[in-house]
Parts: sequence; structure tokens; C-alpha cells
Amino acid sequence: MSGGDMAKPLLGQGSMEGEGRTAPAAGRTVGVLGSGDFARALAIRLVCSGFKVVVGSRNPKRKVGLFPSAAEVTFQAEAVKKADVIFVAVFREHYSTLCDLADVLAGKILVDVSNNTEISHHKESNAEYLSSLFPASTVVKGFNVVSAWTLQSGARDGNKQVLICSNSPEAKRTVAEIAQVMGFTPVDMGCMSSACEIENIPLRLLPAWKIPIFLSLGLFLCFFTYNLIRQVIHPYIREQKNKLYKIPIEVVNTTLPCVAYVMLSLVYLPGVLAACSQLYHGTKYRRFPDWLDQWLQHRKQIGLLSFFCAALHAVYSFCLPMRRSHRYQLIETAVKQAMEKKMNVWVEEEVWRMEIYISVGIIALGLLSLLAITSLPSVSNSLNWREFSFVQSTLGFIALVISTLHTLTYGWSRAFDENQYKFYLPPTYTLTLLVPCTVILAKIIFALPCIHQRLLRIRRGWEKGRYVKFVLPSATGEYSSGETSSNV
Ligand code: NAP
Repeated sequence: MSGGDMAKPLLGQGSMEGEGRTAPAAGRTVGVLGSGDFARALAIRLVCSGFKVVVGSRNPKRKVGLFPSAAEVTFQAEAVKKADVIFVAVFREHYSTLCDLADVLAGKILVDVSNNTEISHHKESNAEYLSSLFPASTVVKGFNVVSAWTLQSGARDGNKQVLICSNSPEAKRTVAEIAQVMGFTPVDMGCMSSACEIENIPLRLLPAWKIPIFLSLGLFLCFFTYNLIRQVIHPYIREQKNKLYKIPIEVVNTTLPCVAYVMLSLVYLPGVLAACSQLYHGTKYRRFPDWLDQWLQHRKQIGLLSFFCAALHAVYSFCLPMRRSHRYQLIETAVKQAMEKKMNVWVEEEVWRMEIYISVGIIALGLLSLLAITSLPSVSNSLNWREFSFVQSTLGFIALVISTLHTLTYGWSRAFDENQYKFYLPPTYTLTLLVPCTVILAKIIFALPCIHQRLLRIRRGWEKGRYVKFVLPSATGEYSSGETSSNV
């Protein structure tokens, strides 16, 4: 953003009035303590949003060039005198150096934007600590979940939610208004006791992904070991053949589709278990066990990891013919055939198997891509419930069926070939079929009208053995009431 742009408000009061709205916060003077990365980004955004900004620095002369010309950069005490709302863009360890300002800050709103370096690093949150240092001021926790980069790049980029908490509803409202005018969506997180939770948010590393990632790694490890035994260890022990070269690509490429396929079925298995539980108990108002609840909540991540493995499988498969080993094997086979004077090597069945196998695989990957795209919040927000459920549930199930066809065409008749049972271990694809086929079978059973109807009624609130009140008009026109079982 150029200096000229920085000085020009994007959301001036004029333009808001033109839209028939007034922003109560815009136009007010806002203070910023500190002149670091966050303070600078904050000042730029505040100026662009139509606020008057006064920055308080220990060394204003040195820092003035870093800020937009529309912002006033002065000494800390001068700055806080001029504003009622002051953003404290200073690290927690330096809060105590601001204590000299306590008198000037009395009665003002301090916005604590700080983060820690570790989760629950201190006994009390930074905001509570700031509040204890300045008891005559009102502290609001907020803006710590947005980075300096997000602040500076404007409303179009980054996370637009700003989580806010404070013991003063009035102060919270004022800060929420400022956030709104800046283009953010303020989210009220309640009183100051939530500050610790808000401060931990930017420090969490993919909390919703832990279980799905461990699950996929576990599956990868199991299938990789199984394939290693069949493709590398077996030929070495039985025929003294060194097939170690297969590990980086071939073994990995036979492992990835197994993980992708089983993970995809694990997206739909908890739904099947939930439906079984509802049918068994005859109600939807009974809590699922915790493990099932957790599983249901992680379906999106499991599905995305399934897509990730499937995409890698596609790339690996695409690269298979590029390998030296593949070229040597081709030449070897060609020479062998020439020496045996074999002219026609065309096997019609193999040709068809491969054509169907690849085509079905491409369709499955296409459907998985669609599921992955629609799980992005920006896309899913634009879909209504029916559209989202159609894509994630119906198309997802079709993707599972097509992946099963892909696996079956890969195996073809190999499951019945004795030579495929290395160390009596069945081919990997036969193992992978277990869970997906169970899910598909269960879904087909649930689609039977008698079961489908019962499930539908349960999901609409009907309960087994529950008595409901009824009211019937009598012959005399009066109403009589009684009870009946909704089971009947
Ligand atoms: P920074 O670049 O190091 O700036 C900190 C500022 O604190 C300095 O520029 C300094 O300004 C001021 N300060 C006041 N008293 C100080 C003292 N005794 N010793 C040292 N500095 C003192 O840090 P920052 O990245 O802007 O972060 C500021 C706060 O915002 C932190 O609490 C951080 O957790 C939070 N935050 C930052 C980001 C981000 O993306 N950077 C995101 C969310 C939250 P003067 O020299 O002008 O006084």
C-alpha cells in the first residue's frame, strides 16, 4: 500500500452515510501503544477505516516514518491522553513499563492484543494481568487471533473473525463496533475468564487434524509393511531376488490407494453405526458414545486426507513409466518375446481391465476433488443444506462405490490366483475391500423401504415406546383427551 493510499480512508463516514448507515465508531480517535509490526498494521487499517489514529511510542521521532502520514506518532503519555480506546500492541513482559501511565489511562478502554509463545504459559491470561496492573481502566481482550499481515492486507484476505471478551459489556460493544468498521466480524466470547482460551487459539497446531492424521499414518504404516513383505521381502527370501528398488515408488504407490480407499469408507462408517444405534434404541435423543461422537466430528478431515492420498496415488501412477526399472523391464520383455518369436502379445481381457480400471479411477478422483472443494468454508457457505448434503452424502457415497469398482477392476481375478498369496497373505486389495463393502452393504440395507421409513421417523423425532397425548372430538362435539403409544 502506498503512502498516499494509507492516508486515504477506504470507509470514510461520507461513504457510509451514502449507504444509509452510520458507523458510530468510525471517525473517533483510537490510540495505539507500541510501534512494532502489529501496531503499524493496526494503525494502517484504522486509518483506512476512517479512524483518527494516535500512536504512542517511547521514541516517536525514530518511528514516525513507519506510519501513514494520517496517523499521529507521539510520546506514550501524549497519545493515551487523546484517545478513549487504546490498543496495547506491546508484549506482556513489557506491560509493567507502562505503569507510569496508569493515571492517564484511568477510565479508558485498553485492548489487549497480545499472544503468548506457549499454550497456557502463565497462570493468568495476559488480559487479566494487564487488568491487574491497571485496575482503573477497562480491559478488553481482542484482535490477537488476526496477524499483522491479515490486518494490513485488508478485508478481502485472511480470517475475518475477531474474538472479543471483557467483563464490561459496554467496553466490549465499543471494541466490537471498531472491529466491524475495520471489516472484521466481532465474536462475543463472554467475560474476561475466556481470555486464556482466546490467547491459546493462535498457538494451537491443527487440533481437529490430530486424530485423522494419526489414523492415516497408522493405516499407511500397516499397509506399507504388508506390501513390503509381499513385494520385497517375499521375493528376497523365496527367490533371492533384490527388489529393494520397489520401496520408494511401487510399494508407496500400492499403499497410498489402500489408505485413501479405507479412509473414504471411514468417512461413511460412523454414519452407518449412528443409524444402527438409532434403529436399535428407537430414538435420536440418546447420546452416541464419545468415540462415535468424535469420529462423526472428524469426518471432514478424514475425507480430505483420503483425497490427499488419492491425489498422491494419481501422481505416483502417472510417473510409473518414467522409471528406469520400468524401461529396462519393457526392453527385457520385448527381447524375450522377440527371441520366442511371439508376434501377437495383445490380451483382450487385460486391455479391457486396464481401460476400465483407469477410467473408473479418474472418475473417483474427480468426485473426491469435488467433495474436497465443497468442504471449504467459502464454498460450503454458498450451498444450502440440501445441496451440501447431496454433494457430501450422495456424491460421496457414489465416490465410494466407484472406488470399489476401481479396486475390483485392479484385482480382477487375482484373488483366485494361488501365486498371489505370498506367505499365505492375500493380495492387499482384498483386505481393503472389507470396510468399504460393509459400508456399501449397510447403506443398501438402510435404503430398503421398511428400514428407511423407520429411520426417517426416528430422525423426525419419533421414539420407540413413547406415549404421546392426543385430543379427539367426541360425538357431542366436545373434546376428550387420552394417551396412546406412538409405536402403534
Ligand atoms: P514488536 O514488533 O516487537 O513491537 C513491540 C513494540 O512494543 C515495540 O515496537 C515498542 O514500541 C513497544 N514497547 C513498549 N514498551 C517496550 C519495552 N519496554 N520494551 C520493548 N518494546 C516496548 O511486536 P509486535 O509483533 O508488533 O507485537 C506486539 C503485540 O501484538 C504482542 O503482544 C503480540 O503478541 C501481539 N500480536 C502480534 C501479532 C503479529 O502478527 N505481529 C499478531 C497478534 C498479536 P516503541 O519502541 O515505539 O515503544
